[in-house]
Amino acid sequence: MALPVFSGHRVAGEESPGEPRKVQKTDAEWAKQLTPAQYLVTRQKATEPAYSGKYVNNHTKGIYHCVCCDAEVFASRTKFESGTGWPSFWSPISEENLVKAMDYHRADEVRVEVMCSTCGAHLGHVFRDGPAPTGLRYCINSVALKFVPTTAKVAPAAKKKAGPASKSSPKRVTRR
Ligand SMILES: [Zn+2]
Repeated sequence: MALPVFSGHRVAGEESPGEPRKVQKTDAEWAKQLTPAQYLVTRQKATEPAYSGKYVNNHTKGIYHCVCCDAEVFASRTKFESGTGWPSFWSPISEENLVKAMDYHRADEVRVEVMCSTCGAHLGHVFRDGPAPTGLRYCINSVALKFVPTTAKVAPAAKKKAGPASKSSPKRVTRR
């Protein structure tokens, strides 16, 4: 069966029901916000060429955000070397942050699409040939991600502000 082809010409507000999104924008708004490559992948479900992404060999500790809406989707601690040419993770930060949809189901391969649950951005696919403990391989496009390194060693709140916490001005109720 052929997959339906989406022309990319959607009418705003006519997304499939049942998946209310916290972030809703029109294609025109996304196109304005994103680079052409980001738009093609996240909104048109394209796939970046293997080894072209900037995060394939990124080993810095940090959090990978959705490039469209900034939702946290993957963490460096679940990233692994898959040898595929795409950033690969064995788990998302939270299942709730992702939406999955069956892409195709063949005898030799099941491919499930992975999207951001907040804005519906296409992020990549998940396969069942990943490492322990999940056995999953989230194969994600670099351009769909925004990496934020864990740089700042969280400094303990050394100084507690002394002083009155209540700074609110007295309420004035004017009555006639
Ligand atoms: Zn998103």
